[in-house]
Amino acid sequence: MPRVLTVVDPSAVGAVPGPATSGQAPAAPVPVQHGPVNLTPVPTTRPTIPRLTVSQRSDAFRRRFYPQAGLRDWNDWRWQNRTRVRVLADLDRMFRLTDDERQSIEMHKGALPVGITPYYASLVDPENPAQGLRRTVLPVMGEYLRSRGEADDPLGEDAHSPVPGLVHRYPDRVLLLVTNFCSVYCRYCTRARMVGSVGERSIRKHDLEKAIDYIAANPVIRDVLLSGGDPLSLDDERLEWILARLRAIPHVEFIRIGSKQPVVQPQRITPALTRILKRYHPLWMSLHFTHPDELTPEVAEACARLADAGIPLGSQTVLLKGVNDDVPTMKSLVQGLLRIRVRPYYLYQCDPISGSAHFRTPVEKGIEIIRGLRGHTTGYAVPTYVIDAPEGGGKIPVNPDYITGRDGDDLLLTNYANGSYRYPDPQPDAAGCESA
Ligand code: SF4
Repeated sequence: MPRVLTVVDPSAVGAVPGPATSGQAPAAPVPVQHGPVNLTPVPTTRPTIPRLTVSQRSDAFRRRFYPQAGLRDWNDWRWQNRTRVRVLADLDRMFRLTDDERQSIEMHKGALPVGITPYYASLVDPENPAQGLRRTVLPVMGEYLRSRGEADDPLGEDAHSPVPGLVHRYPDRVLLLVTNFCSVYCRYCTRARMVGSVGERSIRKHDLEKAIDYIAANPVIRDVLLSGGDPLSLDDERLEWILARLRAIPHVEFIRIGSKQPVVQPQRITPALTRILKRYHPLWMSLHFTHPDELTPEVAEACARLADAGIPLGSQTVLLKGVNDDVPTMKSLVQGLLRIRVRPYYLYQCDPISGSAHFRTPVEKGIEIIRGLRGHTTGYAVPTYVIDAPEGGGKIPVNPDYITGRDGDDLLLTNYANGSYRYPDPQPDAAGCESA
């Protein structure tokens, strides 16, 4: 893990943000918002930017590629959004691109554009195209190949959407898609069909009102998961407006937020944000981690802020070929997550989205990884491995089989170290204990 530098650089006030390139595209569009929702006075001075740890590696990257930006800019999540790396000229400056990467970037049109925050770009290996993180953010030509069983909407979300922006697939819970914007676009995204499409934006206020009305009119819905895109890419006022509207619905017991923002843009986890989130408990978060290289001092501090706000943190990880599909990498990730107070929750088999064959492993690989974790490390570190069944079948757990058979009333078991054991399994009609 990189050594920690201290934070703030007061001399940076007034620095001109932006990369040192003449080939920089116009500033990336900041998400279009859904109308005036609050009412915080417009600040007349530059806002205070909270301090956050900056690792040596990221600081060296800032000095090299953004010499005009100080730590104040770097720690400003809006600056990180505005300055995302999106065009070939900047990618070329920062990374030694392969012909395959270059061609696929040049060919790209439509949804799931390339977008990488400067912070996350600082973690990408500039020389090694096989580095796990690099493979998740730089496209390759494999994205343009459609293989058997792949689909643009493999989970059938669109067919379970009674109103725009809302997916109602399970009986007691819904998915509320509040934006199509992400600060970083993952090349294996299940919602590749919609995220970052032309006009990156949050859901229109009119559609959001309809989705909230749907939730209010359906008392079976006790759990709402905010997703997108990334809900934490909304600004504080808009996010709080949504949370307040949901919290005002008596039968909504539980709000969850799914986000990769603390991982790709830890600067977003400001004290102001955590103060807002605290007001809407019970509120849980599912964070999207992929690889142990993401466990930086910045991310540890962002997760500590969320945990200190009383938010239970879980991690959702997609199993990806050549990224995290071996036991040592996954063990390093899940153990590192516990150290920063994040409980590994799900390990997902990669969904068969169009152009994902280069990311998908055989299911046997996931089972092998779970077998390599269970018993070999803390139980809290072992996620549930699931396949999200195509066409809306929901998450189906897939586990190694530790039951090897039955011998009379005994169940035959194998433990994590391949030892054989018997368990005297009470039969349904013999549940009572024998008298002594
Ligand atoms: S952060 Fe989530 S929604 Fe955004 S591109 Fe990555 S996987 Fe897709």
